Amino acid sequence: MKIDAISVFPEMFDSLNHSLIGKAIDNQLIEFQALNPREFTTDVHKTVDDSPYGGGAGMVMKPEPLGQALDKLVDDRTVVIFPSPAGKLFDQATATKLSNKKHLVFVCGRYEGIDQRVIDYSATKAETLELSIGDYVINGGEMASVVMIEAISRLIPGVIGNSESLVEESHQDGLVEYPSYTKPASWNGLDVPEVLLSGNHAEIAKWRRQQQVERTEKNRPDLI
Ligand code: SAM
Repeated sequence: MKIDAISVFPEMFDSLNHSLIGKAIDNQLIEFQALNPREFTTDVHKTVDDSPYGGGAGMVMKPEPLGQALDKLVDDRTVVIFPSPAGKLFDQATATKLSNKKHLVFVCGRYEGIDQRVIDYSATKAETLELSIGDYVINGGEMASVVMIEAISRLIPGVIGNSESLVEESHQDGLVEYPSYTKPASWNGLDVPEVLLSGNHAEIAKWRRQQQVERTEKNRPDLI
């Protein structure tokens, strides 16, 4: 999969060069590049923002540099993603759908956000989504993109060494995952549940399912 990001802080994507996604980039399962829209400015200050029409606090990202960056990267097989707290909630189902695409472009907002015409323009060129990572506001689209890129990339075959570990994860079947334990069997007076030491696979599966339901009811009743 090819992934591009358009960002005034391309160095914020350096974290993708580590761990499993870093390996996937090294192994050419994923090709990642970040493009700075300041490259498409013509003034001496490389200006990418301006004051909002209609007044109000903060600055808005100008359409011309972002539009030119999109022109350079996007074709009709691309999915363009605008991270935004005003977007649809990004979830595991969306990550799964996007993991099957050939090319994703993330357009990172800063300041008060992006001139709406950039999003409208993108929609004339390719499938375009506005996606939120949660009901809170962060300072820019970079970290939101990194979160989505990691969630999407780990679903690409070959990125996670043991693909079975994806099957029983939280949100894969609408519930959160059961609690996990490792050695030692007793630690600080806290014991691993007996059933996990029993070797009885049917009982373990039954216990884990029950834990999934209980944990989801407790932590995420909205999913039930
Ligand atoms: N004024 C905007 C609003 O109220 O909807 C918030 C702008 S925010 C300070 C700047 C940028 O951060 C956004 O354009 C977006 O790219 C990113 N961002 C902030 N919160 C986000 C979230 N929850 N999910 C995805 N992106 C987010």
